[in-house]
Amino acid sequence: MSATERQILRLVNAAAPGNYKQVAVQPKSSDLKFSGLLPASTHNQVASLGSVSGADLIVADKVLVADGHVTKDGLQGGPLDAFLLSALTALNTGGVLVVREDLSANASPLMTLPALTDYVDVFRRDIAGKYVGFDFYCAEQLDSSIHLNSNYLDFVWILRKKEFTPPPADAATVTFRDFLDKTQYTNTGIGSYEWMFGKDFISPGGYDENIRVLEQFGGFKYGAKMLDIGSGIGGGVRQAAAVYGLQVTGVDLSANMLSEAIVRVHDEKDSRVNYSICDAVTYDFGENVYDYVFSRDCIQHITDQDALFKNIFKCLKPGGVVLVTMYGKGKGAWTEAFKKYNDKRFYHLQTLDEVKERAIKHGYADVHVENMTERFREILTQERAHLEKEKEDFFKYFTQDEFDSLFNGWSDKLKYIEADNHNWNLFRASKPA
Ligand code: SAM
Repeated sequence: MSATERQILRLVNAAAPGNYKQVAVQPKSSDLKFSGLLPASTHNQVASLGSVSGADLIVADKVLVADGHVTKDGLQGGPLDAFLLSALTALNTGGVLVVREDLSANASPLMTLPALTDYVDVFRRDIAGKYVGFDFYCAEQLDSSIHLNSNYLDFVWILRKKEFTPPPADAATVTFRDFLDKTQYTNTGIGSYEWMFGKDFISPGGYDENIRVLEQFGGFKYGAKMLDIGSGIGGGVRQAAAVYGLQVTGVDLSANMLSEAIVRVHDEKDSRVNYSICDAVTYDFGENVYDYVFSRDCIQHITDQDALFKNIFKCLKPGGVVLVTMYGKGKGAWTEAFKKYNDKRFYHLQTLDEVKERAIKHGYADVHVENMTERFREILTQERAHLEKEKEDFFKYFTQDEFDSLFNGWSDKLKYIEADNHNWNLFRASKPA
């Protein structure tokens, strides 16, 4: 079996462990036949998928670009709808659709990658009395293309057919990924945040602060493996590879964020770095894989903290170290403004004590927690002053509204710190050897 087939099968089995008896591959010429391991029927036309029923797995290998569903002008809604509808009709509930597309010849992968991810993630239809769609597992780079062809834009989407409850008519977003990409992490939002934090970073203090945080691992072994959870536009991933010589996997649920990171690494051709758009809570990172797990200011977005702590523990090697910074909460009674700030973002803020208890409950050793809120206050004050001083530069790229949103946002955070509502916390621990 080829490396590409092995990577795809690993992802399919992680998304939906099962027995794949009925497998349909399109087009007939595809190399992805899994060397006879899976019984497969082959199809040249999307329409002929209509003759398939009860499929456990459908593999669409480079058909969306070839058949004109994805063109240089973007996504073609009609044909794409027809393709997804026939795939949903052909699949069993729980069955998996694999879409593989090489976007290296696409005129605008930075737009196409998030647009296609969004399209398949929110696609829902009534079929035979059931409201069905795809549960998005990941959109991931194919390792073989990175290492053989320095192509960082060859992707596989792994999508599981699922029955959903129809959303309320006024729902603005469909999934949490959709929510992240349409609210806090729009392209403009990401651009203005990056202006504020500094190149490649969407976290307080940018490049220099991230070095200070990474130093708290207490040293690295060259060539060791790191997982960066919520890696954003990739600053931390590329820094860990370039400054400390690590092999780094970055994962992020926001397709807008990770597409930026991927396009940047495609230009740089750094094969120490790879990425997957996925939810760090549900993605199976494997067991005993990483020497280090790192996360900068992501986990406040995550509801199921127990599942996250378990997932990190599982993928760490024995003796491996996890280091996480996060937005947290202090001990002061919440002001109305802080409640609104938190509700708008669906944050799940924890106190230092809660983080410590959770880590101990899940079996971590050497648990260290640290309140870094004073440092947060310093950084916020510096960044706000920089915005004021350099506003002429800011207005070359962004509007007055975006200026106000950042300036007021930073001022508000300083008030939340004053009321001991908003904290900035660090957690470091190891998996017992
Ligand atoms: N770590 C990056 C940095 O330092 O520049 C980005 C930090 S940004 C404040 C938080 C990131 O967490 C966002 O990119 C967001 O999409 C990501 N995120 C939120 N929930 C996630 C989840 N369940 N799985 C993976 N990433 C997630």
